[in-house]
Amino acid sequence: MLPILYLATQNPHKVEELATLLQGQFELRTVKDLGLEEEIPETGKTLQENSLLKAQFIAQRYQVTCLSDDSGLEVEALGGAPGVYSARYAGEPKNDRKNLELLLKNLEHINQRQARFVTVLTYHEQGQYFQFEGEILGNITLQAQGSGGFGYDPVFQPEGESRTFAEMSLQEKNQMAHRARALQKFKRFVDENRKSHDI
Ligand code: IMP
Repeated sequence: MLPILYLATQNPHKVEELATLLQGQFELRTVKDLGLEEEIPETGKTLQENSLLKAQFIAQRYQVTCLSDDSGLEVEALGGAPGVYSARYAGEPKNDRKNLELLLKNLEHINQRQARFVTVLTYHEQGQYFQFEGEILGNITLQAQGSGGFGYDPVFQPEGESRTFAEMSLQEKNQMAHRARALQKFKRFVDENRKSHDI
């Protein structure tokens, strides 16, 4: 029987990406299965803090094994913005399309378009918390391209690629993206832990 893991995120796109990558290792559940309706507060100043806050929120309220994700896009020419504020770059209520338009506007006439996506995962098990990070470098395109994915996917072109994340299939994105890279580290950690418990 597979161990149960709750995904401490309310973003259906993240759930889909994480579920594709964790298939067969856990029986996955979401916060919806816990009956959570309210938004998990994100009051931290860094991705690490917010990721931990999300996992703690779920762990303390429901006493379950869970995995949270906080991610962001850091644009070099904007001093690392939108960063930890990626989800609400254009203000409340959060809106992917408005965020993306504001980003393109703020980069108008700027040639230096290097950026990176970062994910910080936090795993909670029996009162202990472990973090795993993943990143991918790329560039912000001049305009939105593609209709797949979510968030800033239509303007993010990974290094060495001619397409944006929004022009790739989920499988292609998952082969290189920040969330997938953090998740590989998490999976190695789980595998090693299981092995040491088997001995
Ligand atoms: P979070 O829910 O606080 O982690 O917010 C993450 C925000 O960063 C999302 O709302 C997106 O705008 C953006 N983001 C994170 N990961 C991705 C991704 O894989 N593709 C596109 N945008 C992303």
